[in-house]
Amino acid sequence: MSHADALKAAGFTERDLAGGTLAVHSPIDGAEVARVRETDSADMPAIIAKSQEAFKAWRTVPAPRRGELVRLLGEELRAAKEELGAVVTLEAGKITSEGLGEVQEMIDICDFAVGLSRQIYGLTIASERPGHRMMETWHPLGPCAVITAFNFPVAVWSWNTALALVCGDPVIWKPSEKTPLTAMASMKIMERALKRFGDAPEGLVQLVIGGPAIGEALVDSREVPIVSATGSTRMGAIVGPRVAARFGRPILELGGNNAMIVAPSADLDMAVRAIVFSAVGTAGQRCTSLRRLIAHNSIRDDLVAKLVKAYASLPVGDPRKSTTLVGPLIDHGARDRMQSALEKARSEGGTIHGGRTVASGVPQGGAYVEPAIAEMPAQTDTVRTETFAPILYVLGYEDLEEAIALQNDVPQGLSSCIFTLNMREAETFMSAAGSDCGIANVNIGPSGAEIGGAFGGEKETGGGRESGSDAWKAYMRRQTNTVNYSAELPLAQGVKFDI
Ligand code: NAD
Repeated sequence: MSHADALKAAGFTERDLAGGTLAVHSPIDGAEVARVRETDSADMPAIIAKSQEAFKAWRTVPAPRRGELVRLLGEELRAAKEELGAVVTLEAGKITSEGLGEVQEMIDICDFAVGLSRQIYGLTIASERPGHRMMETWHPLGPCAVITAFNFPVAVWSWNTALALVCGDPVIWKPSEKTPLTAMASMKIMERALKRFGDAPEGLVQLVIGGPAIGEALVDSREVPIVSATGSTRMGAIVGPRVAARFGRPILELGGNNAMIVAPSADLDMAVRAIVFSAVGTAGQRCTSLRRLIAHNSIRDDLVAKLVKAYASLPVGDPRKSTTLVGPLIDHGARDRMQSALEKARSEGGTIHGGRTVASGVPQGGAYVEPAIAEMPAQTDTVRTETFAPILYVLGYEDLEEAIALQNDVPQGLSSCIFTLNMREAETFMSAAGSDCGIANVNIGPSGAEIGGAFGGEKETGGGRESGSDAWKAYMRRQTNTVNYSAELPLAQGVKFDI
C-alpha cells in the first residue's frame, strides 16, 4: 500500500496532512508524508485549564461507567486495527506483524482497564481502637500528561490512557515529534469512542503536537499532577527532577540495556530463536531489545556460530512485505549512531559480525542495516551504553555469580532473562541476589511483555511502572479513612488528653 493510501484508510484528510510546520518522514523511504500543525506554546495554559475542567466532571463519574468509555475505545480499536497498524508501519517502520501487534496491545490494555474499572479497591485495616474502622480509598488524582517515544508510538499512550481514564484522570498526550501521525490516527479512533459514549466532558483526552518545549509546558505545570514520560534516560534526567521539584508525580519509562544469560544446560535452539527475535525484532529499537548476551564459556563459541548463521539469512527490507523480519531504523541519524558504536566496539577489542548498511533490495531513502553481533573481551563503556539499534554484544562467563554481576553492572535496569534448565540457577536469577531489573524472565527473551504484568525498570530506567498488576495506583491518590462508630474518643498509642 502506498503512503497516501495508508493515510487515507486511517481517515486522514488533506487538511490534517498539510499546512503545518512539522515535517513527517516515513523511515521506509525517507519520503516526506506530511507537514502537520504544531501546538502553539501560548495555547498550553488553556489546554491544561480545559483538562482541569474535564477532571472536575470526570472524577465524579462512577468508575464502571468510565470503564464503558474504555470498552468502546477497545471496540473502535478492534475495528481499526489494520488501518492503525499500517500507519505504525508507515511512520515508525515496524514490520506489518509488529505494527498490528502494537495495536493488539492497545486492545489488550483496554480489556484489562475495563475489568479494572470494577476492581478499584483499597484495604480495610484492623484498628487498635475499639469501635473504630480503618480503610483506604482511592480517588482520581487529576490531569495526566503522557509523553511518548517514537518506538512504541501508540501502545504506550494506551497503557497510560486506558488506566488514567478508568482511574478518573483526563489525559494530555504529547507524542514523539517523529510520530505525530500515529497519534493523530489514534485520536480519531478515540473521538469515535467518545462520540458513542455521549456525555464525556470536553477536553477529557487531548493531543498536543511538538517537541521538547511543548512537553516541558506539561512537565512544569502544577495543574498536571501526573507526568508519564517514556523515552531516553537523557530526557528522563531532565523531566524527572523538574516534576519532582513541583511535587508532581513522575512515571518514568526510560532506556534499557537488557541481557540474557545462557547457561550450559540451556536449550540452545530455543535460546537462538529467542535471541534473534529479541535482538533483531523492531530492528533493535525496543526499550526491551536484547543488547547483551552473557554466555557460559563452554557454549559461547557454539552459540555465536549458530547466531552468525541465523543472522546471515535475516530478510532486511520493506516492512510492508510479509517476508521481511528487519525493517528500517527510524532515520539516518540512528544508523550513524549504530556505525559509531560498532567502530568504538572494534577499538575496544571487539570482533564484529554484520552491521553493514544495506542498500540493495530495500526501498531507497530508508536507513537499512544488517543486525550486528559484537564479540567483546569485556563489558566496556560501549556495551554499557544503550545504542538504539540492532547490536548484540557477546560476553563470556565462568560461574553464575559472575554472570549475574555482569548482567547488573550497567546503569539501566529494565529487562533481563536467563536460559537454563537448572532450577537452582533460575530461582537464583529471580531472587533478591539475582537480576536487579524490573523484568526478569526464564527461558523467554527480555522483550515482548504482556500487558497483565507491571512494566518498567529500575536505576536509570526510571522506576516507573505501567500497564498491568497494580500499576493503576500511580494514577490515583490514596486516602486513609478512620471511622469512629463508638461513643468514646480513644487516642492511638494510648495517649491521654483529657479535657
Ligand atoms: P527521546 O527521549 O528522544 O524522546 C521521548 C519523548 O520525550 C519525545 O516525545 C520527546 O519530544 C520528549 N522530550 C524530549 N526532551 C524533553 C523535555 N526536556 N521535556 C519534555 N519532553 C521531552 O526518546 P526516543 O528517541 O523517542 O525513544 C527511544 C528511547 O525511549 C530509548 O532510550 C528507549 O529505551 C526508550 N523507551 C523506553 C520505554 C520504557 O517503557 N522503558 C519504552 C519505549 C522507549
